[in-house]
Amino acid sequence: MKCADAQPLFSSYLDSAVTGTQMHALSKHIDSCPNCRREYMLLIKSQRMLMGLGRAKVPADLSLRLRVAISQEVARAQRPLFQGLSVRIQNAVNAFMVPATAGWSQPWSSSECSWASSAYRMCRR
Ligand SMILES: [Zn+2]
Repeated sequence: MKCADAQPLFSSYLDSAVTGTQMHALSKHIDSCPNCRREYMLLIKSQRMLMGLGRAKVPADLSLRLRVAISQEVARAQRPLFQGLSVRIQNAVNAFMVPATAGWSQPWSSSECSWASSAYRMCRR
């Protein structure tokens, strides 16, 4: 086995994810090649350092922060609905009923009015 064949397999070798034949050949190569032995030792060292870091601890207030973020997101998603509703309420307030008998010769134009019923027209200011 050559260095170029051995080195790409180091990581798999560490994870015991190589075949028996590969393991044997790698072991033999690492024993006989100072360059690859050094590379392999560096890999072991860095893997141990990573394992020593351990898992990141979950912040104690994560649950609270998640709930706040979720409620903010829900509020944000609902806002357009409420804004649309308030516009509709305002339009309803601005509209006024005009008795059908009032005729069209009023300060409001007919284009602003629609028939609300046979007796009333709904007009907008
Ligand atoms: Zn080598």
